[in-house]
Amino acid sequence: MSRFNIESFKSQVSIIRVLENYLVLRKEGAYFKALCPFHHEKTPSFIIDENKGFYHCFGCNESGDAIKFVQKFKNLDFFAAVEEIARLEHIELSFNEQSNAYFQNLEFLKQLNEFFKTHLKQNEKAKMYFSNRGIDEEDIEHFSLGYVPKKEEFLRFIDSLNARKKAYELGLVSEKEGVIFANRLSFALKDAYGKVRGFSTRELIKNPHLAKYINSKNSNTFNKSFILYNLCNAKTPAYREKELFIMEGFFDVIAAYKCGLKNAVATCGTAFTTSHLALIFKHIKTSELTLCFVPDKDAPGYKSVIRSLKLCFEQNFFNVKVALLMEKCKDLGEFYQLKGICDLKEHFTFYSGFEFYLRYHLKRLKNAVQKDNFLKEIITLIKNIKQYFIKEQCIQEACAVFGVNANVFNAKIIDKNTALNEDFNVKTCLKTALNNEEFKQRFNFFVSAEFLGEFAQSYKDFLQSSQMDAKLLELCADESINILKPAYFSLALKNLVKTHYLKALMQAKKAKDFQKTMQMSQKIAELSKPF
Ligand SMILES: [Zn+2]
Repeated sequence: MSRFNIESFKSQVSIIRVLENYLVLRKEGAYFKALCPFHHEKTPSFIIDENKGFYHCFGCNESGDAIKFVQKFKNLDFFAAVEEIARLEHIELSFNEQSNAYFQNLEFLKQLNEFFKTHLKQNEKAKMYFSNRGIDEEDIEHFSLGYVPKKEEFLRFIDSLNARKKAYELGLVSEKEGVIFANRLSFALKDAYGKVRGFSTRELIKNPHLAKYINSKNSNTFNKSFILYNLCNAKTPAYREKELFIMEGFFDVIAAYKCGLKNAVATCGTAFTTSHLALIFKHIKTSELTLCFVPDKDAPGYKSVIRSLKLCFEQNFFNVKVALLMEKCKDLGEFYQLKGICDLKEHFTFYSGFEFYLRYHLKRLKNAVQKDNFLKEIITLIKNIKQYFIKEQCIQEACAVFGVNANVFNAKIIDKNTALNEDFNVKTCLKTALNNEEFKQRFNFFVSAEFLGEFAQSYKDFLQSSQMDAKLLELCADESINILKPAYFSLALKNLVKTHYLKALMQAKKAKDFQKTMQMSQKIAELSKPF
């Protein structure tokens, strides 16, 4: 380990390139912003400073560099995080045996893939299964479909590579040294660059002891939350078409491909995650991208697409559609088996993702209280939308679905609320400063009079004369304003200062005052230091 120079390593790492693998980042002024992955929030307070290689969350105070982020986000120890970053950044860690193990595993997976492909060619039953589903030899080659032979043969191959331990680590062999993947169809799970990272296998003959599909175990090469099936093939057509279809199963993606829809991926038997979204934005770099979810036409399918939509909206991504098959069949794979090659888009009904989300929920809400709560949720969601026309469109859709007037979602009402909050915060801090000596000193140090709005002059006078004027006396008598408990001192001060700077930043941006914008961004960044 002595040869590892941490500073030289860090100097080669871009925190943005690392974090964009896990988070949906937005550039805002001199910084990048994201929803904090370490606490639940609806508006981003997670700030990344690319130049300093540092992140900080104003919501939960998490902060650190790229290594610390990967450690915490993926629950890894220091060196495992360094390795992961080294792989992402293509930095060679020559000292490191584990890094060699990673490349050996990749090589092993590649050999296995070839082995499975060869065995498919020799197995009539498996070939028949695929051909019954309308999948020909060219498709088999294109999607690296294969067959895992019977246990003895599989183990003989693994032993010929002296790879029992590896096979166990990758979840290809079970604890009891029995093969769990035997006599099954195999789907190679590749990363966005086309490298085999793991396998999913499907039963060919029903086995009551095993699941229909079994994925590789999570390992240093594979994590199903970070893999989208077929992304390596779909990313270029998706970039060209500015649209990516997200399906549930491997056979859906293959059916779509057969019907000419080459920009389709599937999650590997898992829920759609923020990491999947980050993966998509990393590899398909167009701001006009639309995501189109194609759920299975059953209750679990709808439930899961609703979760995916919510996840997109929370990341302030609204360019989302849902496509439902018009025909009565469970999924696209089954549809293709029945219909054969056809123009899929003619068999889909497309919905705006937002409208679909609203209608799904409204249909299931039982009474006025539930409806009100849902309406509140949607108002908050709309409030947080940054882009003007997308916001307008969502307001229109929400009005139509809820049957309410646009005033309910009107931005002006919401702005007034924010202003009220700010006013409330100023009053609370000021009243506390007037009543608590310790807080007053910190308050005077961090807050200048211009932050105090209508109280600016009164407070200036008070500092000179130690006499409260009528305005301040009135504030002290106002029972709706509480004096802060010491535990909240730092947070309240930070909020007050941050709100002020953010407001100034907004005004500076609006006025296209570049210098002031930079100044305010800098000040906001400095808030990451402890108060
Ligand atoms: Zn946080």
